Amino acid sequence: MAAAAVGTWAFSLPAVQKLRSLLKNGVGATDSLQEVIADIEDSEETGQYIIGRGGYPNKNGQVQCDAAIMEGFPGRFGAVAALHGIGTPIVVARKVMDKSIHSLLVGEGALAFAREEGFMEEENECMLSQQSAEAYREYLGKKTNYHGHDTLGLIALDIYGNITVGVSTSGAPFKYPGRVGDSPLPGCGLYADCQVGAAAATGEGDKIMCFCPCFHVVLLMKQGLSPNDACESVIKEIINRVGDEDMFELGIIAMNIKGETGAASSVQFTYCSWTQEKDCVEQLIRSPCQQ
Ligand code: ASP
Repeated sequence: MAAAAVGTWAFSLPAVQKLRSLLKNGVGATDSLQEVIADIEDSEETGQYIIGRGGYPNKNGQVQCDAAIMEGFPGRFGAVAALHGIGTPIVVARKVMDKSIHSLLVGEGALAFAREEGFMEEENECMLSQQSAEAYREYLGKKTNYHGHDTLGLIALDIYGNITVGVSTSGAPFKYPGRVGDSPLPGCGLYADCQVGAAAATGEGDKIMCFCPCFHVVLLMKQGLSPNDACESVIKEIINRVGDEDMFELGIIAMNIKGETGAASSVQFTYCSWTQEKDCVEQLIRSPCQQ
């Protein structure tokens, strides 16, 4: 089978490039995704994209992360939310999927599970970068709301025909402690069906979670829509429901089981895509969807 990979935002380019090489070498979709996402989570530099180490902390100064992984095979899902002190939340999410009878662990419970699985808890200072610590000091000085947010969302299809989607984010900067976004919620921040394909979302999680957009995209692909058309149709339907004025930031990437990729967004949105057929990693830009 032909492999493929797709990722949210321009900063997913190196991740999609690495997925290309892992998938071409026969590494499975889930292992490939875990490796690539964990690398980015653990790097202070990419924290500026609101992911893992170096991501912006909550309003108490603590970095709390959400991460999830879902395989197309039914019932294979694991997630952590509001997890602190761990540099690679996606690896804990994978352990939840593989080793726990549960699917989603949050806060102190997620941390206790991570410790039991041999993860070393780190001091919060180690989870902050110079830049995020500085941004927090500024926030404390001005108490202004910061509007930036991001999620690394990736979908991988391996040469054996398995499809997996993974997401990771440190969530809304300076959020209320314990706040959980759309990312670790199945159907909202991610969804996968081995017979159809997968989708991942990014944007304003507090609003996104009210619409289950990733489940909806996969459902539309099941009904025969292409990944691009399915994403576009879901965004347009949400715009129709909430109205232009109240539409929030929402970008969705999708891939069907044939390895075709697509995306749509309510704002200008760059995503990265690789298909084995074309064998070139592309950065593609989608203009905002109109009603
Ligand atoms: N959806 C993420 C959250 O709300 C942030 C983002 O993707 O921009 O936690």
